[in-house]
Amino acid sequence: MRAARILFIAMCLQSGGGVGATDIERCGAGRVELAASTAGATDLGLACEAVSIGVEFMRSLGFASEVAVRVKVVDELPMPHGIALLGQYDPKVSEIRVLSLQQFVAACADDPPFGCPPAADIYRSFVVHEVVHALTDLALAGRVVPRLKLEYLAYVAQLASLPDALREQLIAASGVRGFEHENDINAFVYFAAPNRFGIMCYLHYRRPENGDAYLQQILGTTTRAGRVPPSIPGLPKTDRDGVARSAGRLHD
Ligand SMILES: [Zn+2]
Repeated sequence: MRAARILFIAMCLQSGGGVGATDIERCGAGRVELAASTAGATDLGLACEAVSIGVEFMRSLGFASEVAVRVKVVDELPMPHGIALLGQYDPKVSEIRVLSLQQFVAACADDPPFGCPPAADIYRSFVVHEVVHALTDLALAGRVVPRLKLEYLAYVAQLASLPDALREQLIAASGVRGFEHENDINAFVYFAAPNRFGIMCYLHYRRPENGDAYLQQILGTTTRAGRVPPSIPGLPKTDRDGVARSAGRLHD
């Protein structure tokens, strides 16, 4: 995920103290490492909540994972092509890395995600996004799914994790309409404005003909007709459009 435009409410954004800078804490299905000098108890609490939300999201789709999700809270992330990352999932080491809340707020100061001042709920939603990338990676067990569909899943989980009123405020302020058809979901929007893409996916998901059945279709648990697909192992390493997806690729 990248710092892009989206909206919200001003809140107290102080990161609480009381937790050492290198502490590793277990929380439910997760393990959170506070490797950031700016991270504290607030970061730990938000990361743990995000893990729980992500696990429950996947469970609701039929995936229950006992594998611990690892979240590392850091002061900074790489800036590929000059784009500031807020979080990333590295499948090679099965590790999520996210900025601390304090660094997240600083990174978003000039270009707030969803167009509004970032706050704790928004921050947590970005962690949820990465948690779902991690859990999806585990659930797929090497099976290849198009990048945009993985982002679709992560953004639906991210937006669903927000309080209802905030999510609706954010959608209204964005002024965007959702993708109407699956074929409309395209990489141009994603790369140009990833959070806008996320809202458009979420609105597509909310259409009555889509919903969780569409998410399960992405994950390969059901087809449009509700049947389990005939095979999971040995699927080709390219999707129907022939776009290669290298296993082990970083997800932002
Ligand atoms: Zn993503």
